Amino acid sequence: MVNEMVTDKGENEHDIVIVGAGIGGLATALALHRKGFKDVVVYESSESLRVEGTAIRINMNGWRALDQLGLGPQLRDKAILIHGEEDVWIDQGRRVNLPINGEVRCLKRRDVIDALADALPPKTIRFGCKAISVEEDPQSMSPLLQLTDARVVRAKVLIGCDGLYSKVANYLGLRPTSVSAVGSVRGLTNYPKGHCFPSASIRMKRDHGVANLVGRIPINDKLVYWFVGIKMSQLDGKYPNDPELVKQETLKHVTGFPAHAIEMIAKSNVGSVSFAHLRYRLQWEIMMGKFYKGSVTVLGDAMHAMGPFLGQGGSATLEDAVVFARNMGQKILYSGQSDEGGQQIMNPERIEEAFDQYVKERRNRIIRLSLQAHLIGVILGSTSSVAKFIAVFILLTVFRDQSAHSKYDCGKL
Ligand SMILES: Cc1cc2nc3c(=O)[nH]c(=O)nc-3n(C[C@H](O)[C@H](O)[C@H](O)COP(=O)(O)OP(=O)(O)OC[C@H]3O[C@@H](n4cnc5c(N)ncnc54)[C@H](O)[C@@H]3O)c2cc1C
Repeated sequence: MVNEMVTDKGENEHDIVIVGAGIGGLATALALHRKGFKDVVVYESSESLRVEGTAIRINMNGWRALDQLGLGPQLRDKAILIHGEEDVWIDQGRRVNLPINGEVRCLKRRDVIDALADALPPKTIRFGCKAISVEEDPQSMSPLLQLTDARVVRAKVLIGCDGLYSKVANYLGLRPTSVSAVGSVRGLTNYPKGHCFPSASIRMKRDHGVANLVGRIPINDKLVYWFVGIKMSQLDGKYPNDPELVKQETLKHVTGFPAHAIEMIAKSNVGSVSFAHLRYRLQWEIMMGKFYKGSVTVLGDAMHAMGPFLGQGGSATLEDAVVFARNMGQKILYSGQSDEGGQQIMNPERIEEAFDQYVKERRNRIIRLSLQAHLIGVILGSTSSVAKFIAVFILLTVFRDQSAHSKYDCGKL
């Protein structure tokens, strides 16, 4: 039992504790800091900032959130503007140009994570601190976070930004995330003399084969991000993990795609190549799941893991951070009142009210996002033509404007 352990005073007691220093945890810490919350600490299991997946597409809604965090201008300098989007069915030679809503850029994940972390006050992130469980202190009702080194951290507010295998989501009673029928290989290819690709996002698709999608988005005039969709059902769910083996295995599966696509993968920097078997939170749980309990809540993938087919998981996570901090600021800070140390005073009685408003706002948004992403996942990964037909039907009837998701504005911080 956690409450039988000794809880240190001071270092192990904070107003706001965040678990996980990915995009969600860092953005939330920054948003809260900008709202005036000073005692915010992030516990991260890795020994340094973890950057998984090489690059990330940020749609217009994500840029709005980054602007609210004050990071838009510096990150815009890191990647070119994407002007077009094209789906190409390589077997039929059919090409469809899709509208791009506003600003789209593809950033190196390292740039996003570093910008978020650098904007935080020193010592906000505590590395090498892995959370193993959450409990409620029966006396004070505050959440207690147990770390692997037997330390227990007491928080007034605890936010789980711990991704796909969230311990905080477990505490809330959410089910583990489900495994998708699709895997994804990602990598970066550097063209020292410059590449000749247009500043557009291209998805080359086919109906057969283990690899049924190869996508490409330039980051700048030399660097290109690519991704390959892998039907895991055809591989008994197995794929290598070692980057060199991932690259070689992927090259086997992309035979038949255009030569420039194969060459791009062949020339990629092995260190940038990774494979992920995609996971998602079930739709009914997104609609009905309990996303907060007392003063504990979740954000980002811990709340709404979804397939990357819309390129929206990370941008939705940035929106979460802005909406969460806004509600915390509106409901919890006593306006203008601060303690002797200059720190703004929190009103703990209104924490649940703030969480309730945050979850309401976010649920409405993520129900549609995750449903749309899930339907595309079914079309790409399912072996059942009936399931694919139904998915296409729902997609075309419910989501007439397929890029409407990026018009969303999460509002002011
Ligand atoms: C193949 C693929 C492509 C994608 N492409 C895009 C894209 O183009 N655009 C987009 O917007 N989104 C994209 N996404 C989604 C996006 O990557 C995620 O939605 C986003 O990273 C979620 O951020 P997060 O902070 O919630 O979780 P994570 O990034 O997973 O961060 C979780 C952090 O918590 C830490 N942690 C985990 N457990 C513990 C613990 N017990 N104790 C302490 N720390 C812990 C981890 O080490 C990690 O640092 C993609 C996802 C995948 C899989």
